[in-house]
Amino acid sequence: MSTIAAHLDDVLSRIARATANAGRPAGSVHLLAVSKTFGADAVREAIAAGQRAFGENYVQESLDKIAALTGETVGGAPLEWHFIGPLQSNKTRPVAAHFDWVHSVDRLKIAERLSAQRPADLPPLQVCLQVNISGEASKSGVAPADVPAVARAVAGLPNLKLRGLMAIPEPEDDPARQRAPFRAVRELFDALRADGLALDTLSMGMSGDLEAAIAEGATMVRIGTAIFGARDYGPRA
Ligand SMILES: *Cc1c(COP(=O)(O)O)cnc(C)c1O
Repeated sequence: MSTIAAHLDDVLSRIARATANAGRPAGSVHLLAVSKTFGADAVREAIAAGQRAFGENYVQESLDKIAALTGETVGGAPLEWHFIGPLQSNKTRPVAAHFDWVHSVDRLKIAERLSAQRPADLPPLQVCLQVNISGEASKSGVAPADVPAVARAVAGLPNLKLRGLMAIPEPEDDPARQRAPFRAVRELFDALRADGLALDTLSMGMSGDLEAAIAEGATMVRIGTAIFGARDYGPRA
């Protein structure tokens, strides 16, 4: 078994254990493998181990990788590409054309551009609103108070399908303190659903805090380091 296959096995076990501990149904938490900074060969190893959904942060790097992996399938199904990084408005066009999901929609203007630029022959782009849960001016994301209005507006765009919310809390090593921000996101999510929006995705939890995120209701965890190893930003930065 390759290292990546073994790591994937470990991560899937962590997810299964956390899901069971939370009293949630097996299979209710999906794994997004975050392959940013890793090449197509690393992604191929994950594909060989059965992983189908991949997350990317940088537009140019991801377009090259998606092109290199054209035609790859898992169990007969094509790969699923999720854009999860900060998205500038001048980069929305290739993202609308080459990705299946965008988790990092952080303002209405970005959503409007993605909808307008989604090619007509593709299904709607699946999107999540990123919530600025830690409240820092430097972090991207919609302020919690603005989420209901922005969510309504995004849900009304023709070529997007609003699936839910995404959040990246401040890193916190103490597991006892990891849950509060995830709980706040889930409460926002529950309020939107109670208000009539048909949402099914809570994208939260990374290598260091996936257990806390699953305990608070995450339906998709975004895992990089625990699968592919430590990232080296050297040459590309
Ligand atoms: C890089 C990244 C991840 C993966 O983080 P790890 O700690 O390596 O698991 C998840 N989500 C987003 C938005 C990221 O940028």
